[in-house]
Amino acid sequence: MLNLVLFGPPGAGKGTQAARLVEKYHLVHLSTGDIFRSNIKEGTDLGQLAKSYIDKGALVPDEVTIGMLEAEVNSNSNAKGFIFDGFPRTSAQAEALDAFLSSKDTEVSFMLALEVDENELITRLLERGKSSGRADDQDAGIIKNRIQVYENETAVLKTYYANQNKFFGIEGVGSIESITLGLCKAIDTLV
Ligand code: AMP
Repeated sequence: MLNLVLFGPPGAGKGTQAARLVEKYHLVHLSTGDIFRSNIKEGTDLGQLAKSYIDKGALVPDEVTIGMLEAEVNSNSNAKGFIFDGFPRTSAQAEALDAFLSSKDTEVSFMLALEVDENELITRLLERGKSSGRADDQDAGIIKNRIQVYENETAVLKTYYANQNKFFGIEGVGSIESITLGLCKAIDTLV
């Protein structure tokens, strides 16, 4: 199985790139942010809970997020592999993912981390906010909070995967096509 962690700060382009990679490699795309947003739309209890965190730019608690992610993996039992987008975001999530995949006799193949500097992220997110309808993309304060949470809780996962020799940084600035090419080159070299 090919299980990719597509990593990067908010606005790095994970969703855009994941959509292109799933087509080429026939993987299932699991974006925890997308799953939370569809729960919010459907008015589920999970959506209501998630919204209270998302609206502040804070992380949804680990046990909720991990349970949801595991249920999604379980409901795709025929998958050839997964692209995890926006997950894991904490050390506890990364450890839970390792244990969960190991219980299924598989593992994270590698992490591809899109590298984009902070000014570019803020510009991109505010631009996306004009059309995405996402409240968390429209407020500079919430955006800064999300980037801060990334720095404080999420960026450390680069070291987590580097310690397993699974971390690969990819240039995340340029045309969408050129970034996809960089990701594909890395994947094709690694598999
Ligand atoms: P995203 O679409 O990945 O930018 O995620 C949007 C929001 O959903 C984040 O700011 C968090 O509030 C929440 N979220 C998404 N993925 C996670 C995760 N793995 N752990 C905790 N919260 C998450």
